[in-house]
Amino acid sequence: MNNKKSIFCLSLKELETFCIKNSAKKFNAFQIMKWVYSTRIYDFNDMTNISKSLRETLNSNFNFKLPEITASFKEDTTDGNYSMKYLIKLDDGCTIESVFIDYGKRKTLCVSSQVGCKMLCDFCSTGNFGFQRNLTSSEIISQILLIENECKVKITNIVFMGMGEPLDNLFEVKKALEIISDPNLIGVARRKITISTCGIIDKLIEIRDLRYKIAISLNASNNYLRNKIMPINKKYPIEDIVKFISCGKYFGHNKITLEYVLIKDFNDSINNAKELIKLFFPQNVKFNLIPFNKFDIKNTELSKTAYGKLTENNYERTSETAYNNFQDKLMKAGFVVTIRHSKAQSIYGGCGQLKGSL
Ligand code: SAH
Repeated sequence: MNNKKSIFCLSLKELETFCIKNSAKKFNAFQIMKWVYSTRIYDFNDMTNISKSLRETLNSNFNFKLPEITASFKEDTTDGNYSMKYLIKLDDGCTIESVFIDYGKRKTLCVSSQVGCKMLCDFCSTGNFGFQRNLTSSEIISQILLIENECKVKITNIVFMGMGEPLDNLFEVKKALEIISDPNLIGVARRKITISTCGIIDKLIEIRDLRYKIAISLNASNNYLRNKIMPINKKYPIEDIVKFISCGKYFGHNKITLEYVLIKDFNDSINNAKELIKLFFPQNVKFNLIPFNKFDIKNTELSKTAYGKLTENNYERTSETAYNNFQDKLMKAGFVVTIRHSKAQSIYGGCGQLKGSL
């Protein structure tokens, strides 16, 4: 039957409603969800604690259709770890990317939340290709199911740092996170899930108390510079970010991360570091310094049909000395500073390089 719906589209509540409507028990929904997301059984007939009649009803209403991995690329790192970039084809032919980073015990999946992105940050390849559509919660969850199965691993950490702005698709992201963070279902702890945003403050307020980790892409130390590279800054300028952080009853162990892409001769001077200290000292934040990843907008299939804003930016990665000095300055002021050794960069799976083509 063609009008079957994918079971992965349903939240627990929706499945409960379905069960009750079909004269089954509310708790059957939880049992089914456990089979699907914990045991990973993709056949209703194998769900042994579900009555035959409910299994039949389920069979005639739902399937287990997942999107498809159509390409992958592996990068070994010198330390014996590796990253994989996956291209995933959705039902309507759109493609998204997910990046799996295997780093010892930490198995991180960088997931996409949208096809493309509306935010149009000038230094990011995803933004440069415009926006196609939001992902559904099942398409977000599918990235985990597909890649766990492909790599035969259990993902321990999830970062919403792939294509898209998660807070611009909050409804579906929240619906997916209910299943991802439920210890009985996919079971990735909330403190191991990072939602990275360009800083949509109204939505940040909405998720502040949900105990996920929050990362804000700051990328500049004053509004003049941030306006140049991140259009969202015109709506939510740096003062709003500072205010959000300072008045948040935020969990002590969960400092907000400020992501800062260092771009040569643009935002990487000691003066920029001083501005950051002035803005954020002594607040509960840590900095994550990211080396700028170059991307080539000309040599891709997508660029020929691009509907987005294509810029010929001349951004360059900052020098190692400037990088170290910047880090030193922040650390001496008492901030925790982590450095992102931009993984997966040679396979164009690094930050800002995801654009739905290999
Ligand atoms: N929209 C979300 C998540 C996607 S971007 C956000 O803005 O946070 C994930 C991270 O990659 C952000 O911190 C962003 O600043 C960074 N990034 C984007 N383009 C980059 C590039 N070309 N080089 C390095 N980092 C980049």
